[in-house]
Amino acid sequence: MIPLRRNIKEMAGYVPGYQPADAAAYIKLNTNENPYPPSPRVLEAIMAEAGEGLRRYPDAASRAPLEEAARLYGFPSDWIVMANGSDELLNNLIRAFAAEGEEIAYVHPSYSYYATLAEIQGARVRTFGLTEQLELADFPARYEGKLLFLTNPNAPLGFCFPREFIEELAGRVAGMLVIDEAYVDFADEHSLDLVRRFDNVVVTRTFSKSYSLAGMRLGLAIARPEVIAALNKIRDHYNLDRLAQTAAAAALRDQDYFRGCVEKIRATREWFSNELRQIGYTVIPSRANFVFASPPDRNGERIYQGLFDRKILVRYFTDPLLAHGMRITIGTREEMEKTVEALRDIC
Ligand SMILES: *Cc1c(COP(=O)(O)O)cnc(C)c1O
Repeated sequence: MIPLRRNIKEMAGYVPGYQPADAAAYIKLNTNENPYPPSPRVLEAIMAEAGEGLRRYPDAASRAPLEEAARLYGFPSDWIVMANGSDELLNNLIRAFAAEGEEIAYVHPSYSYYATLAEIQGARVRTFGLTEQLELADFPARYEGKLLFLTNPNAPLGFCFPREFIEELAGRVAGMLVIDEAYVDFADEHSLDLVRRFDNVVVTRTFSKSYSLAGMRLGLAIARPEVIAALNKIRDHYNLDRLAQTAAAAALRDQDYFRGCVEKIRATREWFSNELRQIGYTVIPSRANFVFASPPDRNGERIYQGLFDRKILVRYFTDPLLAHGMRITIGTREEMEKTVEALRDIC
């Protein structure tokens, strides 16, 4: 018997969305990737960096992308940390704030990876459910846990919590409020100003969705300098490789390209949501690059399977709260037209 820690032995491990070996054979709408390529400036920057300089370590402080982010978001650079995917930040936030046996919380349904990360750390996990009106159920006047993760926009449902509510929540959380804004670039409002106004608020962002860089593994967090300093202490010192650093800086610099892609996805999302409603689906108004939709018979698995047979991949969750529908990533207009056609065919 190898001497594994008990919580590692007992945990199941996270199962990411299906990545088929023959991805080109599918319309792939299951992991919220961007259907458009990264900015041409990003590809140029990576090609220029991919040379003999790779024998040297990257800049441990990731200064180039950090300074671009500081300019773009209007924060001093010591309020920002760059990461190898925002998943790295979620992990390091738990390591920094929740010791073994201490409690963290998140909203269910949202991103269940928080629970996996807490299990690795040996932290306890509490979940807060949602009411029919998509409000937090049973949230205490004062929450004493070490961290509360709020996915906003929510995944997999796509709605946003009202701004006034998030602000109120920041005051009700004794520990840290981590606002996971993985999808916020597709929404109408964000919570960055709360970072300035509350010392316990952290906002995380990712380049995986709105910047078309899931394959580069890039994220960032914005928080008070004391929080950023702690996150810098515990991260891998060379967490971003040279290609990732140059890609991140170039992506942030090319805001015209970024805005173009986001606008197309938002327009396609509205068109697709209306089409779904016309064929009798219930669709939660989405502020993200996906929609959560339920067929009239509330049998998500049947539709998932029907689409799968037609080489269209969407995300189905067996969780009883989610089994009545599925999460569909917004692809190109053409991909979504084919998806509507397939859905008509299945019904
Ligand atoms: C995609 C996603 C992440 C992870 O982002 P990476 O930067 O790819 O690690 C984090 N939180 C939520 C809610 C996500 O959907």
